[in-house]
Amino acid sequence: TFDVLVVGGGPAGAAAAIYAARKGIRTGVVAERFGGQVLDTLAIENFISVKETEGPKFAAALEQHVKAYDVDIMNLQRAEALVPGKVFEVRLANGAVLKSKSVVLATGARWREINVPGERQYRNHGVAYCPHCDGPLFKGKRVAVIGGGNSGVEAAIDLAGIVSHVTLLEFAAELRADAVLQRKLASLSNVTVITQAQTTEVTGDGSKVNGLSYKDRQSGELRHLELEGVFVQIGLVPNTEWLKGTVALSRHGEIEVDAKGQTSVPGLFAAGDATTVPYKQIVIAVGDGAKAALSAFEYLIRSSVE
Ligand code: FAD
Repeated sequence: TFDVLVVGGGPAGAAAAIYAARKGIRTGVVAERFGGQVLDTLAIENFISVKETEGPKFAAALEQHVKAYDVDIMNLQRAEALVPGKVFEVRLANGAVLKSKSVVLATGARWREINVPGERQYRNHGVAYCPHCDGPLFKGKRVAVIGGGNSGVEAAIDLAGIVSHVTLLEFAAELRADAVLQRKLASLSNVTVITQAQTTEVTGDGSKVNGLSYKDRQSGELRHLELEGVFVQIGLVPNTEWLKGTVALSRHGEIEVDAKGQTSVPGLFAAGDATTVPYKQIVIAVGDGAKAALSAFEYLIRSSVE
């Protein structure tokens, strides 16, 4: 039986594992893919104190740091069910059952994709999902933002201050963002909004993005925009499908946590992109992972579980 079992091996899970292990308690990490989203990232320039690094390098550093402690790492293992109790059970896809006195959930999230030709091919070569991360890479260039909800409109406003021109594409006839954001957007001179636009392809020269094709859903006409970047903003999906009915989730599927990372279930904590904590960033996930582990430790010393 573990004292703290961390589910997820991204920045949040790695931080939780290190903080738990440093308390000298039995710590395990089960991860489908140790490293998490940073494995899919090229440049990271906003992890404070590291001026510039690359995703896979950062993921390897996370793993090395965790391995410096006595942590049982179970990589390439998917958790399928969680059974709360005095001792928690975590059931894995391979049939194994892990037991722990407390659990930290850090299963992260994934960006919803538009699923058109070119999107995957040019990911990190013009196709981006995170304006806070990649916005500065497009300084002075032309970009499109796909999605007219709050995140899309916020991204367009944010990017308009960095890039030369932003085209916001919305599938529906109207933007869905809050009125205050729409007013701000309308006040910007270097933003064009196109509604009823169905993106059909991200085009490129073989190595990077050079444009975007879309269908005008009203006329049926196919149009093409020349630009250097495409930000996809149609939603971030937390990896919490397997937790439905076990722990309180927001309507977006995020695990609800309080300021200490405590979920609706005593002894069950959560951190990182899978939670309701706003601004999905590495530096935030790492801090929250540490916090959740400290909360789990506090829970263990206060509870009478043997
Ligand atoms: P994740 O990194 O998503 O890790 C989740 C972990 O849980 C993984 O190990 C996964 O395999 C595992 N897991 C999921 N489900 C299960 C399950 N059922 N059982 C077992 N394990 C499971 N942020 C920045 O701060 N700066 C950047 O420059 C930056 N660039 C980015 C670029 C891209 C392309 C992407 C996709 C994201 C970027 N981000 C960036 C965001 C950043 O990567 C995330 O905020 C961060 O990784 C969140 O950490 P996490 O540990 O919460 O989740």
